[in-house]
Amino acid sequence: ASTVGILGGGQLARMMVLAGLPLGLRFALLDPAPDACAGQAAPLRVAAWDDADALARFADGIDLATFDFENVPAASLDLLAARVPAHPGRDALATAQDRLVEKTRFNALGIPTPGFMAVDDRAGLAAAARSLGLPAILKTRRFGYDGKGQFRLRGEADLDAAWAALGDQAASVGLILEAFVPFRRELSVVAVRARSGEFAAWPITENWHVDGVLSASLAPAEVSPGQEAEAIGHARRLAESLGYVGVFALELFDAGERLLANEMAPRVHNSGHWTIEGARTSQFENHLRAVLGWPLGDTGARGVSCLLNFLGRMPDAGTALAVPGLHLHDYGKAPRAGRKVGHATLCASSPAELADRLEHAGRALDRAAQVAPVLARLRHA
Ligand code: ATP
Ligand code: MG
Ligand code: MG
Repeated sequence: ASTVGILGGGQLARMMVLAGLPLGLRFALLDPAPDACAGQAAPLRVAAWDDADALARFADGIDLATFDFENVPAASLDLLAARVPAHPGRDALATAQDRLVEKTRFNALGIPTPGFMAVDDRAGLAAAARSLGLPAILKTRRFGYDGKGQFRLRGEADLDAAWAALGDQAASVGLILEAFVPFRRELSVVAVRARSGEFAAWPITENWHVDGVLSASLAPAEVSPGQEAEAIGHARRLAESLGYVGVFALELFDAGERLLANEMAPRVHNSGHWTIEGARTSQFENHLRAVLGWPLGDTGARGVSCLLNFLGRMPDAGTALAVPGLHLHDYGKAPRAGRKVGHATLCASSPAELADRLEHAGRALDRAAQVAPVLARLRHA
């Protein structure tokens, strides 16, 4: 049996372990946090990302390495890759870690993005705002997630506040100003590329964020064949150019005329969690198949699905499980404000049935506001 080493022990690693056990795989995890939730499912080594000795010992016990966290230092991946096969590779990781490098790469591949400019100092912020126009979003180039490290500028008057909020990070992690896109909706493509070059994408997912954090996803999204081909074409070109191996997500803004790429995640992705019950093969299983050099599984949908994230604390399990078609995932994390502690996927055979089930879930779990935008889409699409 192969032992897969995962850098990172969060819920993504945990769901990867759960998908890999039926395939006869064994797992080992490395994470700096002793309470990393995947540690409940597989052996966990607690060490800092840059602890070279710990990485070497970790590599001795595994047959190949992957990661569930895109901010693993590229140098740590290099240390592992010198000893065992490691996927996705350094080019993908390094590209996705820096918004400026990432968006530059997208544009070079013919994948349009919102307008963007690097910001190095206060004068550079003013210049970028003049050039891109406002509203705009100032973001840290590195280490942002769940909307952290971002400041929205509505007008000139916000320049000082934006600089006060993020200016001190210009020298360490870098800053980028992005034109604000008044998008119609947010979509993502979750796709997988195998070691053989075989490529597959799941149906396009529509996503709703609240305060920069994913709240709900609907799949398959209602997209025209042209839009679907455009989205999947972007994902495929990106994967091929990076020599990518594994699952990744490409986040897109539907700006009406065109799809604009926001960012990629070089790993399994929250907007792909619905594939566990809602697709013929889940993103977690296909990620493992890809990195192990095995054939990919069918990415087709089974019916229609909606993901609901649980932030802060889990709902009562008995109440949730009384909702027809609801599948519950509790990550085993301690409750904490804003923390992703679990999710539910509601599955149904038609949009109308999914709408009824979502409405039921909204009532039973006291989450009417969370399900409302999805309901509106299902009922007026
Ligand atoms: P993630 O958790 O997805 O990694 P993140 O911290 O990397 O999030 P982004 O994905 O860049 O942040 O932004 C979070 C959300 O903020 C987006 O999904 C979108 O809703 C909004 N947003 C970001 N950039 C823009 C933009 N240029 N125009 C309009 N909305 C934006
Ligand atoms: Mg991100
Ligand atoms: Mg994002």
